[in-house]
Amino acid sequence: MAFVEENFGINVFNDSVMRQRLPKETYKTLHKTIDEGRRLDPQVASVVANAMKDWALERGATHYTHWFQPLNSVTAEKHDAFITPVQGGKVIQEFSGKELVRGEADASSLPSGGLRSTFEARGYTAWDPTSYAFIKEHVLCIPTAYCSYGGEALDKKTPLLRSMEALNRQAVRILRLFGRLDATRVMPTVGPEQEYFLIEKELYDKRSDLIFSGRTLFGAPAPKGQELGDHFFGTIKTRVQAFMTELNEELWKVGVLAKTEHNETAPAQHEMAPIYSIVNVACDHNQLTMEIMKKVARRHGLHCLLSEKPFAGVNGSGKHNNWSMFTNTGYNLLNPGDSPHESAQFLLFLTSVIKAVDDYQDLLRASVASAGNDHRLGGCEAPPAIISIFLGDELTEILEALEAGSIYNGREKTDMTIGVHVLPKFPKDTTDRNRTSPFAFTGNKFEFRSLGSSDSISDANVVLNTIVAESLRQFADELENAADFRTALHDLIVRTIHDHKRIIFNGNNYTDEWVEEAEKRGLARLDSTVDALPCYTAEKNIRLFETHKVLSESELRSRRDIGLDSYAKIIMIEAKTMIMMTRRQILPAVLRFTGDIAAASRNIREIGIDLSSGTELVSTLCSTTDQLNRDLSMLESAVRAFPAGDDLLAAARYMHDTVLPAMSDLRSSADALEQLTERSYWPFPTYNELLFSI
Ligand code: ADP
Ligand code: MG
Repeated sequence: MAFVEENFGINVFNDSVMRQRLPKETYKTLHKTIDEGRRLDPQVASVVANAMKDWALERGATHYTHWFQPLNSVTAEKHDAFITPVQGGKVIQEFSGKELVRGEADASSLPSGGLRSTFEARGYTAWDPTSYAFIKEHVLCIPTAYCSYGGEALDKKTPLLRSMEALNRQAVRILRLFGRLDATRVMPTVGPEQEYFLIEKELYDKRSDLIFSGRTLFGAPAPKGQELGDHFFGTIKTRVQAFMTELNEELWKVGVLAKTEHNETAPAQHEMAPIYSIVNVACDHNQLTMEIMKKVARRHGLHCLLSEKPFAGVNGSGKHNNWSMFTNTGYNLLNPGDSPHESAQFLLFLTSVIKAVDDYQDLLRASVASAGNDHRLGGCEAPPAIISIFLGDELTEILEALEAGSIYNGREKTDMTIGVHVLPKFPKDTTDRNRTSPFAFTGNKFEFRSLGSSDSISDANVVLNTIVAESLRQFADELENAADFRTALHDLIVRTIHDHKRIIFNGNNYTDEWVEEAEKRGLARLDSTVDALPCYTAEKNIRLFETHKVLSESELRSRRDIGLDSYAKIIMIEAKTMIMMTRRQILPAVLRFTGDIAAASRNIREIGIDLSSGTELVSTLCSTTDQLNRDLSMLESAVRAFPAGDDLLAAARYMHDTVLPAMSDLRSSADALEQLTERSYWPFPTYNELLFSI
C-alpha cells in the first residue's frame, strides 16, 4: 500500500480500530452513543478504555491525558502514566472506564472569567466520543470538554457541542416539513484554511518582540513587499517544501485531512487547508494543526508565526472558515440542488443564514475579536470590521426577482415560484470570487473570512451554529402552523429577503464608499475588540444563547471578560517589550552610531574639509533620537497610568485609546532611525532578513 494510505490515521483510535478491537456489542453501543449524541454507559466505557489502552501501549504510549481547550485559545494537557504499583516493586499498566470518561483537573490558573473562584479550583473534563482519541508523542490524548463543578462551560468545546445540538434540533424540524424523513441529524461541517509565516529560527531568537508577542513591534519596510504578486501560488522553496512534507505526514498520522498547501500573498507566508469535517472535529484538528506546525518548524530550523499581523506593510494571516450543514444521509443543505423540491429547501436554508447574519452581525464580529486580529480587519487586506454577505450577482438577481415576483433575467429566463421551479443555473465558485467580503457564499458553503490565524475556530462556529439555529427555529414555528405549506414557504422566503437584503453586498468591501454605504444601511461597525466584545452580553444575544441552551448569561459574561482581560494584557506585554527594546537595544545602538558618525565628521573637518553630509546626518539622527526618547517617555507614563481595578472594559479601552497610539508613535521614530542607521549597528534582524532569508 502507498505510504500515505498506510500511515493515515495510524495514531488514531478511529472507527476501524474500534471495530477491530471492541467486542461487537460494545462497538455497536458506542456507535449508537456517538451517532445519537447520547451519554456513555459506564460498562461500555470500561471495555472501551481497556481496548484503547492496549492499543496505545502497542503504539508506544506511556501516558494518557484529557486534552481540552480552555478559554485562552490554546490546548491544555496534564499527563498521567498508566502505571499502578503491584507486589514485588513492579507496576502494571491500567486505564479504567472512569478515567476515560471523566477527569478532574485542578486548573486554578486557567482563565474562568469569574465562573470558578480559585479556592474552588476543581474543574472536570469529560470525553467527547465524537472526536477520536489519538496519540501524540507517547501520550494518548482523549479529546474532552471542560466544565466547572457546577457544570458551567470553562472551555471552547462545550458550547460548540451545544451549538451543534441546537442547530441539529431546528434543522431537523425544517427537514420534516419538507418530508425528508430519511435524515435524522444535521451537522455543521467546516474546512478551516490556515495561514502562517515561516521565518529563520536563528533570526526569531534575536527579536524580543517576536518571542514575547509573536509579532514585530518595530521594523522599517523592506524595499520589496508583496507588490509584484510573485509569492502567491509561487514555486515553493526547497526548505519550505521539506517543512510542508513533514507537516503533512505528522498531520495524516493523527488523522487530520491535510489537503492543500501553497504560498500565500506576503513574502514568507503560506497556507494549509484540510478537507472539511464535522465542526467539533475540525476544531480539534485545527488546534492540533497549529501545534504541529510550530513543532515541525523547529525541526527544520524555522519558526512558525501564527500571529494575525506579524509584519506591518504586508498581509497578515487569517483563517477562512468554510461552513455548511450536512444531513446524516450525506446531503449538503447549502447545495442549490437539481429539483424544485431541493431548490425550495435550499432557498429556505440560504435565507436562514442571510437572516441570521443580519440579525447578529455584532456577534459574528465579536466572535473574531482579538488584539491581533484588530490589526488585520479593516486594513484592506482582510475583510473590514463591518459584516456583510457576498452572494454573487447571479444569486442576488435570483433573490431580487423572487422578492419582486418577476422573471429572473439571467442566462436562462425563468419564472420562479418556490417549490415549483428548479433554480436557474448560476455559476458556482467561479474565479472572480469576491475576496474582500467577510462572509461569502461559494457555491455550496459559506466562507467566513474574518477569523484570526491564531484563534480557535470554536467561537465563530458557536455563533454561526446558534444564529442559524435561531432563524430556523423562527421559520419552523411559522411553517409548522401554516395552512398551506407551499404558500407559507414562498411568503416566508420573500419576506426574509425583503427584510434582510441590506446585509448583501457584492462590491469591494475595502473601499470608503462601502463604509459610508454600510452606515446608511444601518449595519454594525465595530472597529476594535473593545467595541465588539461587549456585544456578547447585549440583551438580545443573552436571549439567543439561553433560548438554545448554548451559553448562559454568566458563561457569556465570562467570555466577554476573558476577552477584554486578555486584550489588555496582550497590549501591556507588547508595550513593555517595546520599552525594553528601546531602552536596552535601540537607544544605545543609535547613540553609538551617531557618536561614530560625529567622530568621523570631526576627523574629516580636522583635515580641512567641512563635511556637510556628516553634519546633516548627525543632526537628523539627534533630532529623531530625541523624538524617540520623548515617545518612549510617553509610552512609559501611559503604561504607568494603567487603571488598576475591576473594570475590565475601562482597562481594555484605556489600552486601545491611550497605549496603542503611544506604541505607534514610538514605532514610527524607531523605524525612521532604523532607516538612518548602518545595518551592523542595528541591534536585531530587520524585515529584509526576516522576510527574505529562507
Ligand atoms: P478556496 O478556493 O477558498 O481554497 P476550496 O474549494 O479549496 O476553496 O475549499 C476550501 C475549504 O472549504 C476546504 O477546506 C474544503 O474542504 C472546504 N469545503 C468544501 N466544501 C465544504 C462544505 N460543504 N462545508 C464545509 N467546508 C467545505
Ligand atoms: Mg478560501
